[in-house]
Amino acid sequence: MNRLVSGWFYDVMSLRLIAALEDMGVTELIVGRRRHTFLQDESAKSVSLKLRGSNVVFYHFGSMTEGTTTPSMGSDIDTLYCNDGVNIMSGWPEWERGRENLLMVKHETCSPQHYRLQEARRDLPLPLTQPYDEYCVTDHDGKIYRSNKGIGHRVRQINADANLPYFHAGPSHSFSEMYDFVPAYRCRTLPAECDSWFTRSRPENWPTLEMLQVARELGCFLIPDGHCFSEHSDVEWRVSPSLIERHLMFSMETIHTQCYVTLKLLKKDTINPYLNGNGKLTSFHCKTALFYAREQLLPEMWTVDRLFDCIMYCLTLLRDWTTSGHCPHYIMDEVNLFDGKIDSEQRMHLHAILTIIIDTHLAPLAFVKTDSLGVRLLHNVYTVAIWDMTPRRAVNQGITGFLSGFGNVQQMTNVRDILHFTAGCSPDAMCLYLHSLITQPLQQLHRHRSEQDLCRLDVVNRDSLIRYLQQHLASTAASICLQHGIQIGSRIWSWYSAAMNTDVASTRLKLASMLYCKGDLQLAAVVLEDVERRYDNTVQAMCGCGRMDPLVKKPREAFTEAVNDENINVLSTNRVAYCVSFLPQEAFCVPPFLHYEMVRAVGDDIQHSHPADRDWMNWAVVDSRPFLHYLQYLTFRGLGFRHRQKQALRSLISSNLDGFRHGQLFHPETALHLATHCMEMENRPDLALQGYLASQSRIPRNNAANWHIRRLTRIQ
Ligand SMILES: [Zn+2]
Repeated sequence: MNRLVSGWFYDVMSLRLIAALEDMGVTELIVGRRRHTFLQDESAKSVSLKLRGSNVVFYHFGSMTEGTTTPSMGSDIDTLYCNDGVNIMSGWPEWERGRENLLMVKHETCSPQHYRLQEARRDLPLPLTQPYDEYCVTDHDGKIYRSNKGIGHRVRQINADANLPYFHAGPSHSFSEMYDFVPAYRCRTLPAECDSWFTRSRPENWPTLEMLQVARELGCFLIPDGHCFSEHSDVEWRVSPSLIERHLMFSMETIHTQCYVTLKLLKKDTINPYLNGNGKLTSFHCKTALFYAREQLLPEMWTVDRLFDCIMYCLTLLRDWTTSGHCPHYIMDEVNLFDGKIDSEQRMHLHAILTIIIDTHLAPLAFVKTDSLGVRLLHNVYTVAIWDMTPRRAVNQGITGFLSGFGNVQQMTNVRDILHFTAGCSPDAMCLYLHSLITQPLQQLHRHRSEQDLCRLDVVNRDSLIRYLQQHLASTAASICLQHGIQIGSRIWSWYSAAMNTDVASTRLKLASMLYCKGDLQLAAVVLEDVERRYDNTVQAMCGCGRMDPLVKKPREAFTEAVNDENINVLSTNRVAYCVSFLPQEAFCVPPFLHYEMVRAVGDDIQHSHPADRDWMNWAVVDSRPFLHYLQYLTFRGLGFRHRQKQALRSLISSNLDGFRHGQLFHPETALHLATHCMEMENRPDLALQGYLASQSRIPRNNAANWHIRRLTRIQ
């Protein structure tokens, strides 16, 4: 069937495939949301590290960031962390005194994509002559090279010390199979291997001259990953132009993304299951085909009615490469991407499979099960109701909910990482530390002229991080005042005020808690009423204490429905309620009952705590909804409003039951303790004891219930 004959068929099927892909969330809006969320997180992490004086910069790469995935693809989250403290030189003139300097050396044994890194002195622009640790490898000619094994060994040791699992794949070292963390250094100069890409002729003018100029600025990384066939792979570092590739992907339109996603679905469901052996076609092979197709095809080919033609073109490119045995890297075309991935026998299989897909005009698409693509295509052909298919709106809500959960949890994790540094500080020292952070000007991250959006995000993220820190600064400073009977000054009020919009509830509840402890019950009641009014059924509880895995936890439908109707930014701080956390330095702003949470470990309990919980084991952390009703109970009790006090108790109990039933409580033991404490105040120690015993039976260690049981059984 030539193009003339197949024309009508391809046109119709292209439109149906696009409808099916849009049903799966491959739309401009969802792709934009994915990109924004991950770039936002990349910037927030890097800003948070910069505030702490670190030279490490985070980058997210891969399908999650590019938006080239679907809910059922099971894509992991690829992160690269670049140590900008190390000066990677292409020649001795780039040497810098006092810095860690490494010289890129193109050794005769290195493949086109690999370099060795020669150790250099810090005081003089000369090679190092004596190794200083076991990761310095001395060659037969006496030169000392940096091994690529050191970083991985250190990560494995850190994970072992923290009792965390360790996963290793290629250059990635991680605590989870779903997260890839790749260490890197930044090449100061673009390696010569990339030169030909900039100068080769391009009839269709893609990438444009502007894009090439930006690409030059973005440069390359070196990552610790030797060539698969090299005898000296442990001293080789691979050139990675991931930032350039990401820039190219971000320049793609939705039609290109849809072409790439279809190739990946075919790879996953149709090609790799039929490839014998351990090798496989990777997403990167598909992406390479897309880059070449984007460069070679006329712009008018990339239209919605010609998607089938574009996919066929990419598949034909891949098949041609299986014939030649060389799959050329898009930027360094001497590099063969089949090396180490697909051997010659598998290439023959791959050739045969690709031939079938091409000759049958993409018929295997009808059998793709991932995200029910095949079913969706049939549905769009026959317009019949198919049961096994999630409607488009529900798919979009699911993706948006995941993105919002991910973005918010990461945001809170950044704050927790900063507060982690205050462990053991006196309240005064903590105030000084936090104050120094919030008044520190934003140090320039490693940004290029082209990254204006990221620069803007850096400013937004810095302001956002500062808001969270002001919440803790205000509470710590107020705690010092309450402890010493000093009046709370205007600066402290202004910090509370500046932190008010971290989310719907946490800062307001901390303010109400302080007012209650101060004895200002009238004002506390006003603040609590404000929180209750804002906390409608579209508000989602979020936890950054390691108890909410956004890859697993689904936010409530009312929340995702509301966020799905909003803009590209899914953080939606006006719809989320974070856990409320009090550090020991804030003790005088917390109702005394919660002090027990700050000493929840009894004996050697801490050794048995979950690694993710250790950062906050001596904090009082509570879900915002039950804490709201607990504070209402205390406040109305103090004001003598018995009717409203009883109402607050009923709400507290129902927030426990609802939250527990729907998995919306992240600190259920603490929420239960608040309710049982109210039982004590209602003069029902028998019920309270039952509650504490239930809590203890669920969480025997690191649980304040152990103290409460001792307390109550001593009284009885
Ligand atoms: Zn939490």
